[in-house]
Amino acid sequence: MDKIKNYINGELVEPISKAYIDNYDPSRGKVYSLIPDSDERDVELAVTAAKAAFKMWSNTPKEQRARILQRIGYLIEDNLDKLALIESVDNGKPLHLAKLVDIPRAAANFNFYATGILHYAANTHSMEDTAINYTLRQPVGVAGCISPWNLPLYLFTWKIAPALASGCTVVAKPSEVTPMTAYLLSEICMTAGLPKGVLNIVHGLGPKVGNAIVSNKDVPLISFTGGTKTGAHIASIAAPMFKKLSLELGGKNPNIIFADCDYEKMLATTMHSSFSNQGQICLCGSRILVERSIYEKFKTDFVARTKQLTVGPPLNADTKVGAVVSKSHMEKILSYVELAQQEGGKVLCGGKRKIIDGDFKEGYYLEPTIIEGLPYNCRTNQEEIFGPVVTIMPFDKEEEVLMMANSTMYGLASTVWTQDITKAHRVANEIHAGIVWINCWLLRDLRTPFGGVKSSGVGREGGFEAFDFFTEPKNVCIKLK
Ligand code: NDP
Repeated sequence: MDKIKNYINGELVEPISKAYIDNYDPSRGKVYSLIPDSDERDVELAVTAAKAAFKMWSNTPKEQRARILQRIGYLIEDNLDKLALIESVDNGKPLHLAKLVDIPRAAANFNFYATGILHYAANTHSMEDTAINYTLRQPVGVAGCISPWNLPLYLFTWKIAPALASGCTVVAKPSEVTPMTAYLLSEICMTAGLPKGVLNIVHGLGPKVGNAIVSNKDVPLISFTGGTKTGAHIASIAAPMFKKLSLELGGKNPNIIFADCDYEKMLATTMHSSFSNQGQICLCGSRILVERSIYEKFKTDFVARTKQLTVGPPLNADTKVGAVVSKSHMEKILSYVELAQQEGGKVLCGGKRKIIDGDFKEGYYLEPTIIEGLPYNCRTNQEEIFGPVVTIMPFDKEEEVLMMANSTMYGLASTVWTQDITKAHRVANEIHAGIVWINCWLLRDLRTPFGGVKSSGVGREGGFEAFDFFTEPKNVCIKLK
């Protein structure tokens, strides 16, 4: 069975404990490889290597850093088929999605930040003939990067690429649930000639490895994407140590549909925003709010299309909905369907585990599920489920839908469907969320800042904001007389 290794100081190494954890293929519910069960000793080795490499890497001319990072981006592109296949097996997502979204985006992350750093400029401020102030942007040091399982390589590289481009060295931990593409990334970095110690990848459990990174005194910056509860725990350790912190957390995103929308475009996109990646994208619209005059039509059409979605093995070409990531996650999602029914909700379609005969019968498949009849403020409509489960609710007035949309503790993303341009901007202005999509979903220029408000996180990643995060401003003032 394949054994994943840690990537520390430029080498692939076993964990010090020599212990391993099972890695499951969610499409079969079977163990298919082993992950290092690393601990704080492995993290210490990684931090030591990253600290030792920092001076060299931060002083490497940015053109040279950019060339190496772009080489990594190109190698990801060259290995697209292999990486997509592995990500699909590791995560349960349809292969075509990994090929179309996850892996190209991982390459784009490296290419974008490699070239972006060449255009990142700092400010100068002149005090007429008295003094000149200028601001140096210096890399913070060893960056701790921790990412989740839903878009494994995409989110892992979204942190690592800007950190390395900024001149930081990195100790990173992918989710223990989906470690395989991060392992391949370490091989790619070796091929690309990334100097030793610049990037270190330590595999293992969150409470052991993640915690050790967050609490390490030589890691002054943490970039974390994951659940809100884990984010709060991380903040409680990092804040008293005055670490720089970026937290990208959960969401319960509203999808607001007005009667004057382009109906066909809205319906087609709503299928994606509801069920892509089995609903396991932090940006999925899980609460669908529909203007009452089109509610019944929308309900009929949406349920009919959802029933046509093929749930099946991720590698099958016709699969639209693959397996959810783990048994425990599947059970959590099913418990929310049960809760919804206890709260008075009616399951319009789905709601159950789907058993696929043969080799895949132990796989973690769920039928895409639509629930109606729930009040906006019940637990099902307030808590993140993170699976192929959406609720639909009618509304009458704009103020009412805004109140419903803004009623959760989250504020990550939102979608608005209307042909009325003034209403679109007015509603976008009133929604408490880091992102508002008007008549589209998941479309984004990488130059824009990314992140949520309220319990969806603090800080912004993406764009040149990422360089601001991974560097520290130092103001220098020179007196002229
Ligand atoms: P978790 O919070 O469970 O885990 C995220 C990462 O943190 C994993 O690598 C995990 O390791 C690690 N971790 C767990 N416990 C600790 C700890 N005590 N100290 C340090 N690290 C720890 O999230 P999930 O992996 O379940 O991901 C799903 C969540 O991520 C959802 O809430 C989703 O909304 C959110 N998300 C947010 C995004 C955003 O941009 N805002 C984007 C994508 C997802 P391990 O896997 O070993 O437990």
